[in-house]
Amino acid sequence: MNQFGKLFIFLGMIFTTATSSYSQRLPETIVKIGILRNVNSVNLSCEGEYYIYDMEKGEEKRLMEQNVYLITPFKDGMLLNEEKFFSTLIRLIPKSEKNFVKINGKRYRDSIMIKKSRESKLTVINEIGLENYIYGVLPHEVNPEWPLEALKAQAVVSRTYAMYNLGKYESEGFDFCNTVYSQVYGSRDSEKKRSNEAVDATVNEVLVYDGKPINALFFACCGGHTEDVSNVWQGNNSGRYGYLRGVKCPFCSKSSHNSWKKLLEENYIRKKLNVKGYKVGQIKSINIQGKTSSGRVRFIIVKHTGGSLKLTGNLFRMIVDPNVIKSTKIVSITKQKDSFIFAGHGWGHGVGMCQWGAKGMAEKGYNYIGILKYYYPGTKIDKWEY
Ligand SMILES: [Zn+2]
Repeated sequence: MNQFGKLFIFLGMIFTTATSSYSQRLPETIVKIGILRNVNSVNLSCEGEYYIYDMEKGEEKRLMEQNVYLITPFKDGMLLNEEKFFSTLIRLIPKSEKNFVKINGKRYRDSIMIKKSRESKLTVINEIGLENYIYGVLPHEVNPEWPLEALKAQAVVSRTYAMYNLGKYESEGFDFCNTVYSQVYGSRDSEKKRSNEAVDATVNEVLVYDGKPINALFFACCGGHTEDVSNVWQGNNSGRYGYLRGVKCPFCSKSSHNSWKKLLEENYIRKKLNVKGYKVGQIKSINIQGKTSSGRVRFIIVKHTGGSLKLTGNLFRMIVDPNVIKSTKIVSITKQKDSFIFAGHGWGHGVGMCQWGAKGMAEKGYNYIGILKYYYPGTKIDKWEY
């Protein structure tokens, strides 16, 4: 049965068991994405047949295709175009999988749930089949013009990442948000033909280790060697992340992120540290102390007018500016008047798959299975039975 069929069986179960069932966990093929949180109103329209179901009163209403509807919170529920009253939970359900609902002008696949909170705000959740969700994720996580085998590798990684992180936002009533804090999800409107092709070619495939979906971390460019997870996040050195160990990567050398040099003013760095509660005076020097076998900085020593501060390389990067200090694979820190010049290799934390490396491997003729086995040693690909 396809995911759409499963979605309908699930929704059917909801309607027969009425008000209590929407708190139950959805089947694993359906994921819930928080697309709007705590907003004052929602614009709604549709392409094809869509119905609104009031989950508390059991009523239904057809949405007219040519209309744009405004939903606003009202007393113990919400109002549709200031006319029709609904209770605090409604679902928008398509008649067929070819129909789309538009939320604030963006098209979404599958079904939408709108909830009114006690604070009289609205939360909008897209309830969507996992494969449809990955369609909307992939173009944001990788360039859809890259070689197909690199896109397929990312499709398996993004699907596995989703399986591993299901329920991350359970307290808010969904699995993932639609930003970088989960994976960026841009709706039906951001889908691209080539990235959808990569999702279809790897349908239901996930990376497993000891029979379970792995924590499929990835990043842009490693600059020559990926990193052991235990060197980036302390406390992650147990055997369960045996597949997140550093490997040599000669495949990302053509990336523009492979080498970088950035200048940061002393007062910018000082303010960033101060905001995080580190009482740092004027900075006199910044030095590297120790490196991992992949060449990433273990500690940064900041000498300032009030003393000395020692931070892990990762924490220093995150506090100062992870988009400027692109990685902890720093080769030099040079003082120049009132500034410091950082030079290094790669972009990102370095743990898991190097995306530019995956592109380089695909260009050298590796398929996606070869790419994934290289960056996640000891794992295998399973067709996941939901
Ligand atoms: Zn690399």
